[in-house]
Amino acid sequence: MKIFHNSLHAAHAGRQEMFRGRMVPSHELPERLEHVLAELARRPLGELLEPAVDDATLQAALLRVHSGAYLEFLQGAWQAWVALDPDNAQRDALPSVWPLGHRHAFRMDAPTRHFAARLGQHAFDAGTPLTAGTWTAARAGAACALAAARELLAGGRAAFALTRPPGHHAGPDYFGGYCFLNNAALAAQALRDGGCERVAVLDVDYHHGNGTQTLFYERADVLTLSLHGDPATEYPYFLGFADERGAGAGQGFNLNLPLPRGSGFEAWSEALERALAELRGFGAQALVVPMGLDTFVGDPISGFTLRGEDFLRIGERLARIGLPTLFTFEGGYAVAELGVNAVNLLQGFEAGAGS
Ligand SMILES: [Zn+2]
Repeated sequence: MKIFHNSLHAAHAGRQEMFRGRMVPSHELPERLEHVLAELARRPLGELLEPAVDDATLQAALLRVHSGAYLEFLQGAWQAWVALDPDNAQRDALPSVWPLGHRHAFRMDAPTRHFAARLGQHAFDAGTPLTAGTWTAARAGAACALAAARELLAGGRAAFALTRPPGHHAGPDYFGGYCFLNNAALAAQALRDGGCERVAVLDVDYHHGNGTQTLFYERADVLTLSLHGDPATEYPYFLGFADERGAGAGQGFNLNLPLPRGSGFEAWSEALERALAELRGFGAQALVVPMGLDTFVGDPISGFTLRGEDFLRIGERLARIGLPTLFTFEGGYAVAELGVNAVNLLQGFEAGAGS
């Protein structure tokens, strides 16, 4: 498979995040991706490519998923943060005030201009540091996802967008969960725009892909499926429940399969089969897999118990679906094992696709 690699990913290196009243070191680190690259050097799976970023094409693709106001905010956010106070250059931007959505509580359309308020308008947690290089890295990552989509449109069987920051928590005009631009949604939309009539997104990250669900919630042309830790107890808490089946024209085109903390590969595989039954009925022409590896037993911020060899089986099973498949790199924070687990899944896919 072709692997589109974002060499600018390390421009985004969050220092700290807020976790339950404390500032703790950021989990979403550049070394995550470096471990995948190192494992790919040991077990090569295909060409490693770096897509060129064409400004106009990229901007048009970003606007298919994210709002213009949000993109403008992200692009200028660091400069606005430092303009508040020159000392801010020494620390990452994190929001500390939010307009809750209760009726009459706060005006969602308030014409506020203060950067602290705008940060709260576009973020849903205080765990996602926005840094000097966030826009550079996220934008180059989006270009990888779009290049991977082009590879499938050109007839490729599989492609991997190896990029960070991750994307599946990012919505139309907000960031959170370490995500800024929704790479999986950008890829799915690019596949639609390139002529695929029906695209399925199967999110296997430990955390519900809330951003992707929201982006396609009222659409029947993109089926969103997600296996994840039950939001009753797991991040992102406010979305990802089983009764969210889509709305309007999208009614019936979203399926959430939340699983209790502590679930192992057997329960996870059963949920996968339910998702794949839904996928078969949909008649997808291409598949996008937001590939989180934080279902691993050793993950420091998650609660499933999948083991390294399980990722090989997952890859083989996904290959047997028989669809052109695009993987985006999402979560996974057991940094030392992350490279092995990611390459296991992709190698399993290659083995399954070849058999
Ligand atoms: Zn995750």
